[in-house]
Order: sequence, then C-alpha cells, then structure tokens
Amino acid sequence: MGELLSQQAPVEADVVIGVPDSGLPAAIGYAMGSGIPYQEGLIKNRYIQRTFIQPDQTQRELGVRMKLSPLEDVLRGKRVVVVEDSIVRGTTTKRIVQMIRDAGAKEVHLRISSPPYQWPCFYGIDTAARKDLIASQLDVEGIRAYNGADSLAYITMENLVEAVGHPKDNFCRACFDGEYPIDIPREIKDAKLVFESGDPGPESEGNMPLDENGLIETPQQTEAREVVAV
Ligand code: SF4
Repeated sequence: MGELLSQQAPVEADVVIGVPDSGLPAAIGYAMGSGIPYQEGLIKNRYIQRTFIQPDQTQRELGVRMKLSPLEDVLRGKRVVVVEDSIVRGTTTKRIVQMIRDAGAKEVHLRISSPPYQWPCFYGIDTAARKDLIASQLDVEGIRAYNGADSLAYITMENLVEAVGHPKDNFCRACFDGEYPIDIPREIKDAKLVFESGDPGPESEGNMPLDENGLIETPQQTEAREVVAV
C-alpha cells in the first residue's frame, strides 16, 4: 500500500516516518517506493492504550501527548513524510503534525494508507458516530487544513484493492464507501451511538437515513429513494 501510495502521491522530502505502530508498514513501503530514507521519527510508549476510542476529546489529546515522543535529531530542519493507516476523528493526527513541527520539521506531508474513513463501523471496530468522522464532514483539503499539514493524500480505493490483491467484493469496505454488506438493526446502531458519544438519538446519528425496517440505508438506497421522490 505504501509503495502504491508513493507513486500515487509523490512529494519531495528528506525523510519518511510512520506513526507507530499502525503506520509503520506503509511508511516502509512509501520509503521503498519513493527512494526517500525511512527513519523512526516517533517513539511509542507501549503502556498507553489507543487514543481514538477514549471517550472525550481531552482524554484523547492527553493520550496522544503521553503516547508518542518525537525524535528531534531525525526531524529538525527536515521535510517529513508522515504515514498513517487512517484518520478517524482527526484529533490524533492533528496533535502528531503539531508535535513534529514542534520538533523542528520544516514541512509535514501526511500520507494515509486507507481511503477517507467516512462511515461508522458496526462490525467490531470502535469508532464514533458519522458526524464525528472528519472525512464525513470535510473534503481532503479541509482535512489537510484542519491538521495543519503541508500536504495530505489518501490511497485510492483502486490502489488499496490492487495492494490487497483480491477482488474488491471479497471485502467489507463500508467505512470507506458506506456499502454495508450486512444490514444493521436500529437497536445496535442506537446502542453504539449512545455508548460512544453520549448522543441521545436519531437527530444526531450522523445523518444516516433508515429504511422502512429501521435499518441503515446504503448510499445506493438513499439515492434511489431521492430520485423517486423527485
Ligand atoms: S472495513 Fe468493514 S469491518 Fe472493517 S472497519 Fe470498515 S466497516 Fe468495519
């Protein structure tokens, strides 16, 4: 994925680093594909748990500061490519970009080895309501600006599928394209939203329309319904 991402979204830079641990394999691939040297620029404190599932913003930001330490010797004065596997809310990535700049980096270029994460997962990955997913609210330029990066690129779905090496329909891709392969009963969806964000009900459930059975509509169903209504 990192290698294809380096061909898809090249940039002139001095060093490629990954966000530990999730971004490291793609960072190594990006370095191999681009010829830019790979180095460890962020060190992880392994006793702190993942931050994006922390229940509130303050805890997530504190978690980022406690979890990662930048290596100034690697970053100072450099044009840095930072590779991560995804951006969920954007909070963690924004803090990381700032941390790298504070360590003296001249430029920070974000490269993400998944397409934009726009839809919540109901199959076991603990993410937020749709409205809290930054890619459902902002376009790529808006996300770049929010994170304070000099550039931002996500791998395309085509390159992701090519990297995996199997037909697209063999996999769930719902968090990227909203095509849920298994219907989500309303009770499950509501329970998740209340648990995750304290969100009380349908008005704030991430603008996800429901069909007549109380199941989340796919984007195709919504489009078909809107076309009929017109
Ligand atoms: S691909 Fe499917 S199962 Fe995996 S995180 Fe996305 S929505 Fe969840």
